[in-house]
Amino acid sequence: MAATDSTSPKFIVMSDFDGTISLDDTGNILTDASMGKERREAIDNEYMEGKISFRELQIQEWSGVNLTWETAVELLKDSTIDPHFAGVVDWCIAHKIPLGIVSAGLDKLIDLHFEHSLTKEQLEYMEIFSNKLIVVGDKWSIRFADDSELGHDKAASIKKVADRYEVAPKVVFIGDGISDVASAKEADYLFAKRGLDLDNWCEKNGVKRDPFDDFAYITKRLEEISAVL
Ligand SMILES: [Mg+2]
Repeated sequence: MAATDSTSPKFIVMSDFDGTISLDDTGNILTDASMGKERREAIDNEYMEGKISFRELQIQEWSGVNLTWETAVELLKDSTIDPHFAGVVDWCIAHKIPLGIVSAGLDKLIDLHFEHSLTKEQLEYMEIFSNKLIVVGDKWSIRFADDSELGHDKAASIKKVADRYEVAPKVVFIGDGISDVASAKEADYLFAKRGLDLDNWCEKNGVKRDPFDDFAYITKRLEEISAVL
């Protein structure tokens, strides 16, 4: 991708995946089909109450999935991504702006969605930072991206990309959830999906953000940001 260019870009674009680019929570679809919604929500609640780490939540939920990969693909066949996301990829390619996905999700599930919706050129341009999924028969396990309590410290991945350049680029970050709060703090330009947890958190904490409904708006704003930087 363009990130290997020696010249520093004016900015980089980093985006969350689940709920931000994808329109459904793929994790919930698969865990609910396996262990049932009630059990999954009980694990979610243990995390919300601070009894287990986010890393532990993911171990418990993903190890509870008992589907073959073929069954998972079938369950996710109607799960789609924002139809305007491809436009953002094209804009970044045309303007040589690095584009990364930072996700607490699993690589194979992200790839599955992108392969349905993006061209090979668009796919190859993006850099994806996520956890890895290993499926053996109907047993699922995760290889975490790092040793953090989160399983994947998304803010650290954003910093790693920004630190590649001689002149630090501005950071555009796009997200939707509570797990995006740390990444949002690394951002110079923050987009939060309107009405969801990240947007609400920003409102409550007086953090400046640009609420968005879809990626058509993001493309328009990237054009404007590019013009002033
Ligand atoms: Mg999300």
